[in-house]
Amino acid sequence: MAPHTTLAPAQKTLLEALADGRPRTRSDLTEVTGWTRNTVAARLDELIHLDWVVANEEPRGGRGRPPGLFTLNADRAVVFVASFGHTRATWAVTDLLGRTLASRTERLDIGIGPEGAMTKTRDVAKDLFAAAKRPSSALASVVVGLPSPIHTVTRRPIHPWALPGWIGADVGGAFGRVFGVPVWVENDAKLMTIGARIRHFPDVQDLIFIKVSSGIGAGIYSGGVLQRGVLGMAGEIGHLRIAASDKRCACGNVGCVLVHVSTGGIIDALAESGIQVSDLDDIAALANRGDADCTRALRQAGRYLGEIVATLLASLNPEVVALGGTLGSLGDNLLAGMRESLYAHAHPTLTSSLHTVSFGDHEMAAIRGAAHLGLADILSRVPSGTGLDA
Ligand SMILES: [Zn+2]
Repeated sequence: MAPHTTLAPAQKTLLEALADGRPRTRSDLTEVTGWTRNTVAARLDELIHLDWVVANEEPRGGRGRPPGLFTLNADRAVVFVASFGHTRATWAVTDLLGRTLASRTERLDIGIGPEGAMTKTRDVAKDLFAAAKRPSSALASVVVGLPSPIHTVTRRPIHPWALPGWIGADVGGAFGRVFGVPVWVENDAKLMTIGARIRHFPDVQDLIFIKVSSGIGAGIYSGGVLQRGVLGMAGEIGHLRIAASDKRCACGNVGCVLVHVSTGGIIDALAESGIQVSDLDDIAALANRGDADCTRALRQAGRYLGEIVATLLASLNPEVVALGGTLGSLGDNLLAGMRESLYAHAHPTLTSSLHTVSFGDHEMAAIRGAAHLGLADILSRVPSGTGLDA
């Protein structure tokens, strides 16, 4: 069960085709790869022998192979995920298809920096491996999520106004020294986007997921590919300007959508109505009892958000715009405000086929997305052999 086994490129291709966890027949895989049925069958047999693929064959008489279903062996190795938000962190041990074997979520201030986060993670990991009943030797990949853009090439946090103390830190290297396996560092909104797409929209090629919590960030699928951009800034919509706003942002500009569409933005909007709240729990309590001022504040934040999203629609023409994050999934008011604004600002052709939705499972989506990246990272690192090519 060693996670690392020499694989031929053709074997990796089949594993990548099974990486979404959906069972597939030989015919499905013949279609995906363009190979002959015999080639697919031979590669599948090898992968079953190597413990990478599980076959669910229906026994039947007669000649020829039965119409079996094949899935990636999710139990072959585990992925450890550490997903940090600004004020909360979730850790999980998952199988290769992102099913959580053990997890924990706690309040944690991202201001403790990489060293503090590392120390905390080391302690949590011991408990979670014990709870998951998996030896740490089964670990094949670690994925770290951060509420910061991650440089496309160096995989280090960038964005000086977001996470002081983390900028440029070799988070992957530090976690790698502790866990002894390669580490993939990713922006948290992108992790949620990957996980939300796998769960809710596996066949959608063009999708925007927007995380709204302490901050705001988006993940963008265009043509079925997650967009990172040259620096990793694709989807960093927080500092796009709202035309009607002159409110100052910590970045030095005025009118950034972040200062309106975030926990802090809602706290400020409520304060203008004479309501003093201090955190998301207070906002949630007001929203859940239908407080009129809170409803109004969330609707207006949604309208501001829609103004920005209308521009994204014109650039990307997505099929789905999904809201998530602790604020993004708090009732329907933010979503309703966004829709209102979208229909006012975007061309009707762009909104006619658009599906807008909000999700409450963003933390689990981040874990699923991280596990998916972990699997992709494992497959990218499995050394290729020779002589088994299709
Ligand atoms: Zn700003």
